Amino acid sequence: MMKSPVSFRNFQCRQCGECCKGKGTVQLSSQELEDICRYLAISHRLAMRYYCYRDKKKYVLFDQPDESCIFLRQNRCLIHPVKPSQCRNFPHEWNEKKMLERCEGYQALTRPGDNSSLPGPENGENWSYVP
Ligand code: SF4
Repeated sequence: MMKSPVSFRNFQCRQCGECCKGKGTVQLSSQELEDICRYLAISHRLAMRYYCYRDKKKYVLFDQPDESCIFLRQNRCLIHPVKPSQCRNFPHEWNEKKMLERCEGYQALTRPGDNSSLPGPENGENWSYVP
C-alpha cells in the first residue's frame, strides 16, 4: 500500500465530518458492536435492525440515504466514545486519497500555518474531537 506523503503527527480534526460521508463501509467487530449496544442501551437485535448488518465475521454499519454513516448527525458521531477502531484510526491508518483530500484537517496539513477554519474552545468546540 502506498503511504501518504503527508505526516499526520500534527493532524487536528476540524469536524468537517467528511470521513463519515460518501461511499464506503464501516466495519466493526462483535466486541465493538457490543460496546455500541451498551452505550446506546439497546439490544443486539435492535442494533441489527436499525444500525448494521452481518457480513461474514464482521458487522457493517448502515448508510443514510445520502451515503453518510448511520451515526452521523450534523457532522458529529452519535457514538463517539465507542466508535469502531476503523473510525478512531482515521486518518493515521488510512490511505484512501479521495477521502483524505476531502478532509479539512488533512488539507490543513498540506498548508502549514493555516489555522483559518480550525474550531477552537472560544466558540465552544472541542479541539480533540474526532468524528
Ligand atoms: S466516526 Fe461515527 S459517524 Fe463517523 S463513520 Fe465512524 S461510527 Fe459513523
